[in-house]
Amino acid sequence: MRKRKKKRGGLIILIVILLICIAGAVFFLVNRAAENRHIAEEERAAAEAAQKQAEEEAREKAEEEARAAKIAEEKSQWYLVLVNNQNAMPGDFDIETSEVEDGYVIDARVKDALQEMLADCREAGYSPRLISTFRTRETQQYLYDHTANKADTAVPGHSEHECGLAADIIDADSLGWADPLIAEQEDMPAQKWLMEHCQDYGFILRYPSDKEDITEIIYEPWHYRYVGKEHAAVIMENGLCLEEYLENMEDYYRPE
Ligand SMILES: [Zn+2]
Repeated sequence: MRKRKKKRGGLIILIVILLICIAGAVFFLVNRAAENRHIAEEERAAAEAAQKQAEEEAREKAEEEARAAKIAEEKSQWYLVLVNNQNAMPGDFDIETSEVEDGYVIDARVKDALQEMLADCREAGYSPRLISTFRTRETQQYLYDHTANKADTAVPGHSEHECGLAADIIDADSLGWADPLIAEQEDMPAQKWLMEHCQDYGFILRYPSDKEDITEIIYEPWHYRYVGKEHAAVIMENGLCLEEYLENMEDYYRPE
């Protein structure tokens, strides 16, 4: 009887030990599975982050390429043509002129913008007066031949006036001056208004006072050049001349 009791007691201990072992094994396996799951999650998260970054980089590259293509496209547009001492107007430059007022003609694509600018300037109480717009090669040659200072006048074939994209505008009150085409023109009320608002109509002051060594043309606070509203705003806001803008367009131009 006592022996039997002892035997049963040993069996119970054995079962208990067995149960403890099973519990331990289950705990170990569950724990291990959780750990594995954690590692897998971390790996998935890392892979996702890497993919996201790759996508982001690809998108940025595509945007940069699209921007470069847009800039190249804009540069080839008629309204951004660069004409200066180094760059003659393109031989195939297409000009169709249209009258603005008083017999002055300009590129037909620019006429409305110029008329609007002049009308708004007059509406504001000033007296702008056109004195030169489109010039034929012959006229440019004549002006060049008869100018005292060659830096005042573009070489024939190198004038924006020949492209029909430029207008010289003075204040009517300076018509009586011996020569209204002097730096003091900038102090005239109509000129002040034009310099402040020209970009709203797509024009820029083409030969600023601080850019003479780049443009190779003296300060001309009367010569306005059409480049389109989008570009005019950037050029005027940043105080650039057209040469600088075209050279560094990627720094300034953000296509919409
Ligand atoms: Zn001019």
